[in-house]
Amino acid sequence: MTLKIDLHSHSTASDGTLTPTELVMRAVEAGVDVLALTDHDTTEGIAEALTAAENRPLELIPGIEISVTWNSQVVHIVGLGVDIQCQTLQEGLAPLRQFRDWRAEEIGRRLAKVGIEGAYEGAKALSNGKLVSRTHFARFLVNQGYVSETKKVFQKYLTRGKPGHVPGEWAELSAAVGWIKAAGGQAVIAHPARYPFTRTKLRRLIGEFVEAGGDAIEVVSGSHSRDDNFTMARHAIDFGLKGSQGSDYHGPENSWAELGRLAELPSGVVPIWRDWTLIANRLSA
Ligand code: AMP
Ligand code: MN
Ligand code: MN
Ligand code: MN
Repeated sequence: MTLKIDLHSHSTASDGTLTPTELVMRAVEAGVDVLALTDHDTTEGIAEALTAAENRPLELIPGIEISVTWNSQVVHIVGLGVDIQCQTLQEGLAPLRQFRDWRAEEIGRRLAKVGIEGAYEGAKALSNGKLVSRTHFARFLVNQGYVSETKKVFQKYLTRGKPGHVPGEWAELSAAVGWIKAAGGQAVIAHPARYPFTRTKLRRLIGEFVEAGGDAIEVVSGSHSRDDNFTMARHAIDFGLKGSQGSDYHGPENSWAELGRLAELPSGVVPIWRDWTLIANRLSA
C-alpha cells in the first residue's frame, strides 16, 4: 500500500485561499493520508488544522515555510514536524511578519506612483487581517482588471526591477534552519528547481544548507517538471540529503497543483518520512 503524502501546502493564514479547516477537508476528499500545512512565516493556521484533522483519516504535520535571503535571492525553507510552541522558532518568525507589514504598505505606495490606487487596502482586505503576501496584491490587481492573471502581475509589477518590487532582507539560511531544528523539525529546501540559479549556484546553496544542519530537499514539487524531479533527486543523493514531496497547494483556483497529486519520489532517494513513526503506524494499520 502506498500512502498519499503531501508535505507542502498553504491556508488563509498566509497566501492560500482555503481556511485550515477547508484545506484539511479537501485533502481528506482527495484521499491524502499525510498533509503538512506550511504557511509562509506563520504557524497561525496549525491549531485549527490539527483540530480539523481530529477523527479524520488524515495525519496533519505542523509545518512552516520560512522566507530566506541567500546571496541576494529569496529562497524558501520548509520546516516539517515543528513544535509551534517553540520560542526560538516564534522569535525568529515575528520579525519576518513585521517586515511583511511594512513591505505591504511600501508596495502600496510604489504601486500608487504608477497609477494603481488602493492596492495596499485591497491586498489587506483579501488577506482577511492575516499575513499579507505579494499573492494578495496579485489577486487584487487581477480583480481590478489591471492584469489578466496573477502570474503576469508578478512579471509586470512585483519582481525585481518592476515598479511594485520592494527589496528586503529575510532570514539568514543558517538561522532559519536553526529555528526549525530548535523546534524539533526537519528542514527542507522548498521547490529547488524554481530558483533562477545555475547548477553551480544551486549546489553551493545545498552545500551551505547541509553545513547548517539541513535534512532534505523537496525533490518532487507541484511546481517542478518531471525532469526537475530527477535532477533534484540526483542532488539529494549526492549531498546525502533526504527527499521531500509537496504540491505547494494554494487553493482550488490555482490549477497547476492539486492536493496530494504528485509524482513518486525517484528511486534511490531516501524519503524524509523514513523514520516517522506515524507513517509506520499508518502502514501497519
Ligand atoms: P511573498 O512571500 O509575499 O513575497 O510572496 C511570494 C509568493 O508569491 C509565493 O509563495 C507564491 O505563492 C507567489 N508567487 C511568486 N512568484 C509567482 C509567480 N510568478 N506567479 C504566481 N505566484 C507567484
Ligand atoms: Mn505562496
Ligand atoms: Mn515557496
Ligand atoms: Mn509554498
